[in-house]
Amino acid sequence: MDLNKLILTNNRCYKAGKKITPKGIMVHSTGANNPELRRYVNPDDGRLGKNLYNNHWNIDSPNLSVCVHAFIGRLANGNVATYQTLPWDHRGWHCASGPLGSGNDTHISFEICEDGLTNHTYFESVWREAVELCAYLCKMYDFNPLALGVLIDHSEGHIAGISSNHADIRHWFIRHVLSMDNFRHEVAKMIDSQTPDPFGRTVWLYETNGTYAQDWILRPCKDGSYSFESVANGLMLDARGNRMEPGNDVWAYPNNGTDAQRWHIKAITGGLTPTVSAHPFADHGLALDIEGNRHESGTRIQLWEVNNTRAQEFTLVFRGLTPEGDVVVTLIHCDSNKAIDLKHGGK
Ligand SMILES: [Zn+2]
Repeated sequence: MDLNKLILTNNRCYKAGKKITPKGIMVHSTGANNPELRRYVNPDDGRLGKNLYNNHWNIDSPNLSVCVHAFIGRLANGNVATYQTLPWDHRGWHCASGPLGSGNDTHISFEICEDGLTNHTYFESVWREAVELCAYLCKMYDFNPLALGVLIDHSEGHIAGISSNHADIRHWFIRHVLSMDNFRHEVAKMIDSQTPDPFGRTVWLYETNGTYAQDWILRPCKDGSYSFESVANGLMLDARGNRMEPGNDVWAYPNNGTDAQRWHIKAITGGLTPTVSAHPFADHGLALDIEGNRHESGTRIQLWEVNNTRAQEFTLVFRGLTPEGDVVVTLIHCDSNKAIDLKHGGK
């Protein structure tokens, strides 16, 4: 993220001087074909370029009763950047109100400068910038971007009864076959990748080698689900953060009794070494999956939508019994003959 700061101190919203305790973030887009930041943010700081029409938002005018906390758009040199334009806890004027109140009282807001809405390169740049901005704000305020009503767009604010009836930013995302759900998940993923969890261990695909790093105790739970407990370090095969969504990491995590560690095992073929697929017990529409069905050692293990491909087929190889009589297995990816493995032995 290329984050800059130019507070719109002449705007009447800034001058109103009201503070909020932010509870979430509302995403907007400008609704006009002009991707240049200088259209809204000025004076020129050497990067924005000069607004020749003096129609930016840093003016005191009775005709300008809007202001947001940030803009994402193009600099004079064509690169995409973010400008913070209000203190994050300032009360913005971005979404008016609905029957249940006003998002102005609860949500930090930003506008993404629209272009003609069809340029995919520009869209990808502003999408990435917006994901980073939201991850940054979520960490600052300890927001969970996946929680209801926290990270929403203007159109969802209207559905929630806290804003005027606008279509942004859904109308733009749709053109690139994306939704606010995709956006929220990207933000959550970015926060995870920036937040080291001292307890989790990476699970990846690796040459089958007969070590404990590939041995899992298959433990039946009461309801027909199973957990996989590592023989190497006692951690459980786990959907990271208990997030049931395609693309989420599968890794190893201490036993915490959540659904993230319970799996539904479905037989594809029977026999002594059955071929199976494994599904999070909370969502059978997802499956344990080898990313891209790649064969290289080190390939990521993830959740993905059930698609009946070889990326989701595993052989359960019997390795022995624990003293308690539980079965120990190795999960072999059928296509590559490599195993689900704890990176570096799970240390
Ligand atoms: Zn809006």
